[in-house]
Amino acid sequence: MIIIVTGVSGSGKTTLSSLLAKKLRLPFFDADDFHPPANIQKMSMGIPLTDQDRLPWLEHLADSMQQWEGSGGGILACSALRENYRETLQVVPKIIWLHLKGSKELLHQRMNNREGHYMKPGLLDSQLETWEEPDYGIHLDVSKAPETLLEEVMKLDDINAPESHFGVIGMGVMGKSLALNLAENGVPTAVYNRHVPGKEEKIASGFAENNQEFPLLKGFDDLDAFVGSLAKPRKILLMIPAGAAIDQQIQQLEPMLEQGDIIIDGGNSFFEDSTRRFKELIEKGLHFIPMGVSGGEEGARKGPSMMPGGKKEAYDFIAPYLKKIAAKDATGKACVSYIGPDGSGHFIKMVHNSIEYAEMQVLSETVHLMKYGLKLSYTEISNILKSWGTEGLKSYLLDITEEILTVKEGKNFLLDQILDKAEQKGTGGWSLTTALKYHVPYSPLSEAVTARLFSSQKEDREELAVLYSHRFGAFAEDKVILLEKLKNAYTLTRIINHEVGFNLMHQVSEQENWNLDFSEISRIWTNGCIIRSSLMENMTGLFKENSSLLKTKAIKTKLKEIRFDLAYIIGLGLQHSYALPVMSGAANYLFGRITSDSSANLIQAQRDFFGAHTFQRKEDPTGGYYHSDWKN
Ligand code: NAP
Repeated sequence: MIIIVTGVSGSGKTTLSSLLAKKLRLPFFDADDFHPPANIQKMSMGIPLTDQDRLPWLEHLADSMQQWEGSGGGILACSALRENYRETLQVVPKIIWLHLKGSKELLHQRMNNREGHYMKPGLLDSQLETWEEPDYGIHLDVSKAPETLLEEVMKLDDINAPESHFGVIGMGVMGKSLALNLAENGVPTAVYNRHVPGKEEKIASGFAENNQEFPLLKGFDDLDAFVGSLAKPRKILLMIPAGAAIDQQIQQLEPMLEQGDIIIDGGNSFFEDSTRRFKELIEKGLHFIPMGVSGGEEGARKGPSMMPGGKKEAYDFIAPYLKKIAAKDATGKACVSYIGPDGSGHFIKMVHNSIEYAEMQVLSETVHLMKYGLKLSYTEISNILKSWGTEGLKSYLLDITEEILTVKEGKNFLLDQILDKAEQKGTGGWSLTTALKYHVPYSPLSEAVTARLFSSQKEDREELAVLYSHRFGAFAEDKVILLEKLKNAYTLTRIINHEVGFNLMHQVSEQENWNLDFSEISRIWTNGCIIRSSLMENMTGLFKENSSLLKTKAIKTKLKEIRFDLAYIIGLGLQHSYALPVMSGAANYLFGRITSDSSANLIQAQRDFFGAHTFQRKEDPTGGYYHSDWKN
């Protein structure tokens, strides 16, 4: 929505425009700021501008207006005295013109009261002579207080006309937060939620009603009306559960949409489903953008990290909106970027979540060792984690863990009241099956999924714990030395977690020709998302050197220095009956990957022995296959 407030000098254009901009949460622009220096000099010397002087100024304004329209709109204060000036500005389909009118005496009085403005009061008469009264738009009497004028404007049908730039379907945790984020950033946003009689009624309209401080938010309980309220090409973000719900929602939308409209799936859909949907919808002339969103409720509200895939051409339509609501990296750049074709946006979100699983698990293992092995209190552990954060290990997950450890319910720590049963949903398991499908080693990320499966079998664990009299042992070693080794074990495991996830992305990108940019992916994960960390910030640079972290100079030096500390901690932990699946998986991955001498020759021999599966020979460079008659 573009609103242009016109009128001669002193009519109060800037005041009303600023009030409107604040109310509608749209940016305010003063047309005077777009004058070239030569015009400003002329005006401050009291020389009236000619139409020739005004032309480049008006054209510059017209270009800018198209950009504002593309990113949600704006309020422009502009004298626009003549009809042909206004015609030059008529470059976007819908402009709301507000014309300010007042008596010559009142305007003179206002001009005389002004200080430091380059327009001399003497020019007012020439402006009033130039003014060609438009026979369209809304005419407002400037003798009224600006707040009264604002009230009048806010009641206009045109202002309240149902034209939104973005639509959000699904008023759950994420949908609500993203819709508020859009509206707060000046994007007129329509929201819709399914209607389930007796259960889910008036969810979207109720949400808009409860958030009246966001006038750009419009709620719809009818899908047709919701779609009809959207500016074309329509941009509709689905924030609903993955799977059948997405297919059903798309099916309902399809007959209401037109060629070029864009559906964005911001949920955690499986990337192969997204690739299928992308292909089906492209055939029908509709765009589909599978987009990973990370950051949880708070990120969605204040600035998420977003991973859109699909077609670049469709992404370009939504990029200005996404950039407005995204988190910003350390340089101020938005944490959103076009990822690649097909379902690649959802694919990398899946891997992101898989790294997240392992990052959470290694922190849990670390805290477990500190609590039972080192006999530290939660307060002590929290302080140690805090100090790690200042020693190069800063991460969102470390920060929240440190905080979780301090929270009490009455006299007891809340953590001790929480049942040790974690679920694994969609993305964790999908990453594992994808890694297997593409023949990519996935330990220790696979162990993080297994750990959750073990955790969920609480009754079985309780029965066996009694059967085996299982107890964690305490460590007798020096605490200071052990804590240093534990910090190194944690550091190394985290590096491996990231290497494994990015290696899966690398392998799949190669096989699918997606051309993923790992430096850029790590950049958009430096803020807004759950796995943001100082390591991720370093990776943005490291991936410019090599697509494998293990092959970069800095990581090689670090791993050589600390790898045996990880082995030491795992050994000690296992001897004292701790399960350390992700730490052990990381060590196995590292030592398994950096050896040129694996144990697989015996596997091949066994396979050939019992099944004549053949084997290759070291001394044969042709890679030929051999069989041995093992028994003779
Ligand atoms: P949520 O709070 O459970 O909300 C789900 C929304 O989808 C509700 O508005 C629900 O409407 C609607 N819905 C459910 N079934 C539907 C169906 N069959 N057809 C149409 N609408 C349906 O979920 P959420 O946490 O916002 O998550 C939404 C998506 O984002 C999921 O894919 C999730 O995995 C993903 N995600 C979540 C997070 C997070 O931290 N929560 C982070 C990133 C991504 P009713 O109210 O009528 O049931």
